Amino acid sequence: MAYATINPYNNEVVKEYPYATEDELQAALATGHALYKQNRKQPVAERAAILHNVAAKLREHSAELARACTIDMGKLLRESEGEVELVAIIADWFADHGEAILTPEKIETIATGQAEIRHSATGIVMMVEPWNFPYYQIMRVFAPNFIVGNPMILKHAANTPTSAQMFADIVAEAGAPAGSLTNLFLSYDQVTEAIEDPRVQGVALTGSERGGTAVAEAAGKNLKKNTMELGGMDPFIVLGDANMDDVIDIAWRARLYNTGQVCTSSKRFIVMDNVYDQFVDGLKEKFSKVVPGDPLDPATSLAPMNREKARVKLQKQVDDAIAAGATLVYGNEPIDLPGQFFMPTILTDIDKNNPAYSEEMFGPVAAVYKVHSEEEAIELANDNPYGLGGIVFAGDADHGAEVAAQIETGMVFVNNFMVTLPELPFGGVKLSGYGREMSHIGEMAFVNEQLIVKTDKPNMDNVAGGLVATDPA
Ligand code: NAP
Repeated sequence: MAYATINPYNNEVVKEYPYATEDELQAALATGHALYKQNRKQPVAERAAILHNVAAKLREHSAELARACTIDMGKLLRESEGEVELVAIIADWFADHGEAILTPEKIETIATGQAEIRHSATGIVMMVEPWNFPYYQIMRVFAPNFIVGNPMILKHAANTPTSAQMFADIVAEAGAPAGSLTNLFLSYDQVTEAIEDPRVQGVALTGSERGGTAVAEAAGKNLKKNTMELGGMDPFIVLGDANMDDVIDIAWRARLYNTGQVCTSSKRFIVMDNVYDQFVDGLKEKFSKVVPGDPLDPATSLAPMNREKARVKLQKQVDDAIAAGATLVYGNEPIDLPGQFFMPTILTDIDKNNPAYSEEMFGPVAAVYKVHSEEEAIELANDNPYGLGGIVFAGDADHGAEVAAQIETGMVFVNNFMVTLPELPFGGVKLSGYGREMSHIGEMAFVNEQLIVKTDKPNMDNVAGGLVATDPA
């Protein structure tokens, strides 16, 4: 059984789910396509009202949703609760602002008549999502596309099936018509089959390079527009004049939040030499204070990783990094609990030949680099295959923003934790993928930007020479 909820705190198999059948996939495609045709005629305001209901239902069922999320993939219950509130905020934001974003745009043109671009639905979006934020990852695609009128089929991660189904049930309970979001436990081949279907017009994936490459290949082969939100090795740059209390207070959170399993976790700390020792000591002290335990227990501050294979992979990456010359400053000791726990770990002295220099470590492992100038910090930050996010700490925020502008990533925050909010575009460059989710940009990901030029009577005066047939007379 490929889809299963296995509690990573105690390894208990809670529930298994069979793969979707061919009939279920075909029914989802037919229902979705019929809904798309209907949505094209429906006022956007009606969908906005349903989306507000989705937010209300999420809040009403917050406790059950949060608990299910924690049991699916192990995150601290308070982080699950925060995630449920965040997805409700996203739903409300698109309900409030989504229609205005779709307002037709007038174009100044020398062509005869009035020109405008309308933004309309294109058809079913196939979304493939990861386990690390089981609800948030769905909502980033769901809210904007629901407003646009694109029905969606969801293939969630194999280890978060319960959260996936609960989210889809909330959408239905909120009054969204059948087909708005159909959760199916699809195999990889069935995902490809859906992408090949002419009724599917968009493909959105968040996940690893491996998953992204496979799904983008299927999308490319079938000429389907797609967005890819992939991995990251986000730099956290500490300039020599940064406020070090703020730096330490944010740095440990930026690495340990969600047990370090965030695409935008700070994975590389690039620290100026004059504050380097203070930084390493401060990070070590914060890392040493976490309390591993049951993520449902409010006293716990270190949750297990999401599943055994993730912990085993991270352990191998740390072992390989040390074998290749990295210095272990803190951590990397077993935790005496049955679940998938990994002790927060700090590595330094990672040189360019070390695999840890360019491999994403998706867990609570901090790589710390010492640099001697701002230029060196920027060069090191950019010497990486990924380009998702980043943080810069500087004494002067304007100067921090100048440094941020030189970093080749999609998002940089200055003097703060990186946050995600519906109005802020989310996405990266290089191997971190392409396209943006959320904000007005994300809402446009799968729309038909349809040009309409209207006039009362034909007039060829303003048409550039040669673009219309010349008069034979
Ligand atoms: P993953 O293996 O790529 O899985 C993500 C999703 O893709 C899952 O639903 C997975 O299904 C599916 N998938 C994988 N291969 C597929 C294929 N060949 N055909 C169809 N579906 C396929 O990613 P992960 O390692 O679990 O997730 C962590 C990665 O996601 C990290 O690299 C992280 O940085 C990245 N991430 C990026 C963002 C962002 O916004 N940029 C956000 C969060 C995470 P199964 O579960 O069934 O394998």
